[in-house]
Amino acid sequence: MICICEELDCSKYGLSGKVAILENKQSILTSFSLKNERWLQLLGIDPRLLTVFYQSLDPRYDWFIVVYDYPEFCKDPDIKEAILWHELGHIQYPVQAGMNDLESEIKCDELAVKQGFKAGLEKVLDLTLEMARHLNHEILQQMTTARKLKITG
Ligand SMILES: [Zn+2]
Repeated sequence: MICICEELDCSKYGLSGKVAILENKQSILTSFSLKNERWLQLLGIDPRLLTVFYQSLDPRYDWFIVVYDYPEFCKDPDIKEAILWHELGHIQYPVQAGMNDLESEIKCDELAVKQGFKAGLEKVLDLTLEMARHLNHEILQQMTTARKLKITG
């Protein structure tokens, strides 16, 4: 059984289908290959960065945004909206799981900026960069730096 935390307002987000936010700690840990919660602290990962967007198999919804911890995800409204707008951008600019597509990521960032969440997005990118450094993840560092340059111009 799935537990819906929030249904996105279709008119506010300009959606043609229904999108819901779900919280699922275990599926998030699994999709990021993390053994358990302790690894989030050990690796210095902000759980809000572990957000997954996917097409729904449930006939009541078209898309799901899965977050690690819903109250945590909502803590900073600027960060929340920046992440939501970015993820919704992937409806138009899809990226296959496990693939890196800088051009699509930048298009999604531009959508968040256009909606007024540039400050929130900058915070997201700073947190992502910090995480990439901790993980020693070179591709993520490069991609995030390129995304930051695009929005700070
Ligand atoms: Zn993205």
